[in-house]
Amino acid sequence: MRIMTPTVAAVVWFAGLVGWYIIRRPFERRAKKIGVSKSLFDRRESGLLVTAVLGLFVVPLIYVLTGFPPSLDRPFVPAVAWLGTAATIAALWLFRRSHVDLGRNWSISLEVREQHALVKTGIYRFIRHPMYSSFFLLGLAQMLLLPNWLAGLSGIAGAGVLFVFRVRREEQMMLESFGDEYRAYMGETKRIVPWVV
Ligand code: SAH
Repeated sequence: MRIMTPTVAAVVWFAGLVGWYIIRRPFERRAKKIGVSKSLFDRRESGLLVTAVLGLFVVPLIYVLTGFPPSLDRPFVPAVAWLGTAATIAALWLFRRSHVDLGRNWSISLEVREQHALVKTGIYRFIRHPMYSSFFLLGLAQMLLLPNWLAGLSGIAGAGVLFVFRVRREEQMMLESFGDEYRAYMGETKRIVPWVV
């Protein structure tokens, strides 16, 4: 009996997004009650969020529901989909870990909170942007789970656009708020892959 079929892989993909939402929701609710002392949440930032949602959610959802675009289908390999399942679990673990460690300092966009603390512990001891790493892992899972080049690659593309256009601005903002403390922290850590990049 074959457990891993394209349908099961699509269900795993969808379950990953549901898990994502369940992890984020309490933090989003709590965040509403915490004041913001500085915000760079502008149209550009909204555009980046929309791009990430398109790539990680809308494009693959259309594929899963309609099979579009069939011309970009690739063969389904169960072992690859199993790897995608493992990547989903890893992405969710990292997503939760980074929310817990960032705590009340979390924000959906670029914002500095009232009494913002610079977090350098937990997962942030190893990388400065674990939440963005988890986006890339989720995109990787999507590629391994959905046997279609467009639906597969759109997640990594969406996460990539968000990361590339946001990360410098975020670090600049952190440098302005925390100065030498953040500069030293930058010297001790990599951005998204421990010891690598
Ligand atoms: N880039 C981080 C955090 C994403 S949430 C990650 O990928 O894990 C975005 C918010 O987190 C920003 O508004 C910024 O104020 C805050 N932030 C980023 N790095 C932080 C850190 N090391 N300590 C505290 N807050 C941080």
